[in-house]
Amino acid sequence: MLARRLRPSAARWSQQCSQQWARAYSAQAAKGSPDIDPSALTVEKTSSPKALLDSKDLIFGRNFTDHMLSIEWTAQDGWLPPRITPYQNLSLDPSACVFHYAFTCFEGMKAYKDSKDRVRLFRPDRNMHRLNRSSSRIALPTFSGEKFTELIQKFVKMEERFIPKQKGYSLYIRPTIIGTQNTLGIGPPGSALLYVIASPVGPYYPTGFKAISLEATESAVRAWPGGVGDRKLGANYAPCIVPQMDAAKRGYQQNLWLFGEEGYVTEVGTMNMFVAWVNEDGVKELITAPLDGTILEGVTRESILELAREKLVPEGWKVSEQKFTMAQMKKAADEGRLLEAFGAGTAAVVSPVKAITWRGEEIKIPLSPGKETGPLAESFWNWMLAIQYGEVEHPWSKVLSE
Ligand SMILES: *Cc1c(COP(=O)(O)O)cnc(C)c1O
Repeated sequence: MLARRLRPSAARWSQQCSQQWARAYSAQAAKGSPDIDPSALTVEKTSSPKALLDSKDLIFGRNFTDHMLSIEWTAQDGWLPPRITPYQNLSLDPSACVFHYAFTCFEGMKAYKDSKDRVRLFRPDRNMHRLNRSSSRIALPTFSGEKFTELIQKFVKMEERFIPKQKGYSLYIRPTIIGTQNTLGIGPPGSALLYVIASPVGPYYPTGFKAISLEATESAVRAWPGGVGDRKLGANYAPCIVPQMDAAKRGYQQNLWLFGEEGYVTEVGTMNMFVAWVNEDGVKELITAPLDGTILEGVTRESILELAREKLVPEGWKVSEQKFTMAQMKKAADEGRLLEAFGAGTAAVVSPVKAITWRGEEIKIPLSPGKETGPLAESFWNWMLAIQYGEVEHPWSKVLSE
């Protein structure tokens, strides 16, 4: 009986799915799907505030603040009133579609304490834009990024005591959307939950930069044209762990994702990849893969590109969003033209690379004398942190109102 219910004929199944879609969409159209309403926020404070951990004991993504922000959505009524509650377990039916068909996407952003004890976010509009793009790609609802940011600010303000003061420390913020409809039918979820949790984090390099060695992965691809590698969908990450473990077994800290027979360099682990070389025309060039649908549009990537255009181009550098291959990197290294390579992402900001093993050969990448980073990665790290921690005023850094 159970088996029969789980496996209706394909025809009946698809019929059920399309009925479900029709219901969901007509309900949405009828109600005009109200947007998130920050003024409807209710707050329930915890009665048992957590003790703060010593900064040195912080492990990335293991400890969370006292509260969480949640906003439910239904196809019928749109976004329901937002709630801040004590941090707690979710209660979901085992049939909830998130568990079966990966209706889940997320963001990663940070709140920083500046030297005047003010709290700052870094380009939250970019994270909101990306979360909407991720969510809509998997038939989950979209929302006003400005309204959601307003709520995140209220939430972060409440959790302010968890943001460590020292430079390099921050509060990692994890907005997540999941499909919550109870059904094994594959269709657009009729209900969803958008929630935010936050975790105090220490500096990625507590004792200074540590350059990493990469293994170029040729047995698996992370993303492909027409795929979803440019969205932060949960489904993109689980399949990356085994290739990562394989690289780790051979002593590499990360794997480098390639695409196609040409061996195009795409991303490093879950960071965007930058290479600096003297190109074949003899021009100093900073290059990263273009946003062709296979590359996650990193906020750090975008910021580094803008900073490079502002600060490096006047010094004669070329800044390119262009495809480039492992063979080109190897040739540049052999000819002494390879200058630097680094990953870029919110967690580490920049992650200097000292070597890449590709088809059994190690390509060595120069570092500054006596350092675990090259000069460019170090400059970008300094420029980015100065903005994030409000040491220089910049429109990217958003101070939270009191
Ligand atoms: C999140 C992510 C990045 C970096 O994005 P940022 O916005 O800079 O943190 C790069 N690549 C992948 C695959 C990612 O998931």
